[in-house]
Amino acid sequence: MPIRLLEDNLINKIAAGEVIERPASVVKELVENSIDAGSTRINVRIAGGGVDLIEVEDNGCGIPAQDVGTALQRHATSKITCAEDLFNINTMGFRGEALPSIASVSRLELYTRYADEPGARVTAAGGTIQDTEAFPGPEGTRIVVRELFFNTPVRKKFLKSPVTEQSHIYDIMSKLALSRPDISFSLNSEKKLYFKTPGNGNLRDVLIAINGKDFAEQFIDLKISGETCSAYGLITRPEFHRINRKNQIFYVNNRIIKSPMLARAVDEGYKGLLLSREYPGVIVFLTIAPGEVDINVHPQKTELRFTDEGPIFRLLSRGIRDTVNGLAINWRENYRE
Ligand code: ADP
Ligand code: MG
Repeated sequence: MPIRLLEDNLINKIAAGEVIERPASVVKELVENSIDAGSTRINVRIAGGGVDLIEVEDNGCGIPAQDVGTALQRHATSKITCAEDLFNINTMGFRGEALPSIASVSRLELYTRYADEPGARVTAAGGTIQDTEAFPGPEGTRIVVRELFFNTPVRKKFLKSPVTEQSHIYDIMSKLALSRPDISFSLNSEKKLYFKTPGNGNLRDVLIAINGKDFAEQFIDLKISGETCSAYGLITRPEFHRINRKNQIFYVNNRIIKSPMLARAVDEGYKGLLLSREYPGVIVFLTIAPGEVDINVHPQKTELRFTDEGPIFRLLSRGIRDTVNGLAINWRENYRE
């Protein structure tokens, strides 16, 4: 068989297999683009568990009309320009993969207006651009994704029920909203508003908007600073616990991260206060010099490599222990009175 370079559209579909696992991945990628665009308001609307419709609307900087076609091409990004940038990433995106991947497995419409320009619209089906035209609209970007995986039936077959897919979307939207209290996020379905965060910069208010006041009251403030890293967030009082880690959310440099090491550090911090299958709730934001972590490990960017795990583990576990113990002491004193 002769060796050939694959056609772009096929390459995008292959990349989509890695980046776009399910509707929630589309939501994550689109919302992260809206965050990178400097938006202060991001509204998401879904139907049919995100398979029928995902619409993300922002009031960010928009895309210059001449670039709308390019944005749908592979490895097209405005966020990095050279290899050094890879070791100093301050944006959520940088791989230039999301839009072409999403476009290759859906019917996509993109409306955008940049600065003083008149605005533009581009439509694509299965990755093929159909139309690019001038189109007036508000400043910012609105992306509509319909019929996700219509041309990849196998992928579609592996999706769970709309209710389950919707709960994954809810989960990722809450994590994104918690990561940016300064941005107002809303999640809606056809009939229902799931939540709307105020965008006032207060983390606790985001938690209240999503989970309600009673839940938020279980959390106390965490603030730790160390030499190579610092952390802040909200952690639950020792009397709160759950049977799994669903209420444990970690961010490294504001990116949602899965990290067994950080989960172990939390266990260590609560040691002696909780039983072995009792898990606290934590929302922890770690700040580490960008050069000390490598985020370019995984296409979905949810895993990373720490240059040196030890100091981070110790800082977090001790910080949590001191915070929770401080509270425990006060509680005992109050109790004695
Ligand atoms: P990446 O985010 O890795 O750069 P994407 O494929 O997600 O790649 O997006 C490609 C480019 O399209 C971005 O670099 C950005 O310039 C532009 N873009 C995408 N979404 C938006 C948005 N909501 N607002 C402004 N620009 C956007
Ligand atoms: Mg992106």
